[in-house]
Amino acid sequence: MAQLDTREKLAILADAAKYDASCASSGTAKRNSRDGKGLGSTEGMGICHAYAPDGRCISLLKILLTNSCIFDCHYCINRKSSNVRRARFTAEEVVRLTLSFYRRNYIEGLFLSSGIIRSSNYTMEQLVEVARSLREDHDFRGYIHLKTIPDADPELIHQAGLHADRVSINVELPTASGLKRLAPEKSETQIEGAMAGMRTAITDGTDARKRYRSAPRFAPAGQSTQMIVGADAATDRDIVGRAATLYDRFELRRVYYSAFSPIPEASAVLPLQRPPLMREHRLYQSDWLMRFYDYKPDEVRAAADDATGMLPLDIDPKLAWALKFRDNFPVDVNRAPREALLRVPGLGVKAVNAILSARRWRRLRLDDVARLTVSIKKLRPFLVADDWRPVALADRAELKPLVAPRKQQLELFAA
Ligand code: SF4
Repeated sequence: MAQLDTREKLAILADAAKYDASCASSGTAKRNSRDGKGLGSTEGMGICHAYAPDGRCISLLKILLTNSCIFDCHYCINRKSSNVRRARFTAEEVVRLTLSFYRRNYIEGLFLSSGIIRSSNYTMEQLVEVARSLREDHDFRGYIHLKTIPDADPELIHQAGLHADRVSINVELPTASGLKRLAPEKSETQIEGAMAGMRTAITDGTDARKRYRSAPRFAPAGQSTQMIVGADAATDRDIVGRAATLYDRFELRRVYYSAFSPIPEASAVLPLQRPPLMREHRLYQSDWLMRFYDYKPDEVRAAADDATGMLPLDIDPKLAWALKFRDNFPVDVNRAPREALLRVPGLGVKAVNAILSARRWRRLRLDDVARLTVSIKKLRPFLVADDWRPVALADRAELKPLVAPRKQQLELFAA
């Protein structure tokens, strides 16, 4: 490997880390000000944003320790057979960079992942060493998110949890068959085994902290994972089902969905085109329905098209569910329980809380609800207010065009 200076390594390893969606603000259009016009860019790599356990949005230095890898996962630009420029930081270099960026107020923490060099254990040791040194040698109190390697020694994964705020183990593909085909060196059993071990350790750590104030913290921001969408034949129904199982079995804080993007010199087994970014967005919306809107996984799955198993791209999954299961509507804004109000398309959690609080004092009219939402047009067919009752919702075949957002002209060259 040619000798590279820190700046060159940073350019390569920050760029290589952009494919990890676990703390990315991905999905926007490409813009920059290289032509001297305007200010700023959406293309820069290296610093990403994440939410701390207390809800603050924090900026993180997001890099790989190395983009060399002994594995050959078909979808990954860093795979062994990929013809990319390689670079590698030492653990000390990452520590130095993190501290110097932190002191200059560029970042509030570190997101560190890595290709696998020599062996899973050796790589995991290096990742842990970065976190250990930051915490123990430098008393670093900023946020640390470490990617862990599922087949590394469980003791090393445990060490990661002792130093990091959040740990993540990627399931990579939504189905076992997809994983076998596209990442043959990885094993679903090992990935899920590592997640189960992490869940137990997090629960034990939380219990110990309740009993003894002096007990060490263990991954206080929990664990998360990432799934690549569109690289295999998994449908949205499959993906929602897998995410629900992961939340349930491993108490994950987040499942991240990353639309597969074709990489240079891609393997022939991959699709030539990336899935629409809207698909990733709809999956995030379906995730919110399960986590914040009390939808059961099977209900979200039922919003998908019966024939294709895919969520509609032109409307959000909550509206899709409401249009498909119209006998649950209209909902009376003055009497319905919280769970029913949360199902009304266009009513968010904040609006529902405001309705519940306001109706303790008076009966609500349509105008009162309109003040709490962006568009009353979307809501009208689905709710009853003191001065409003929709007519024959269930019979209206043309309801979808009335409530769906207007189609937007797409950018001709949008990714
Ligand atoms: S192990 Fe990770 S870095 Fe290596 S090829 Fe697979 S996905 Fe890429």
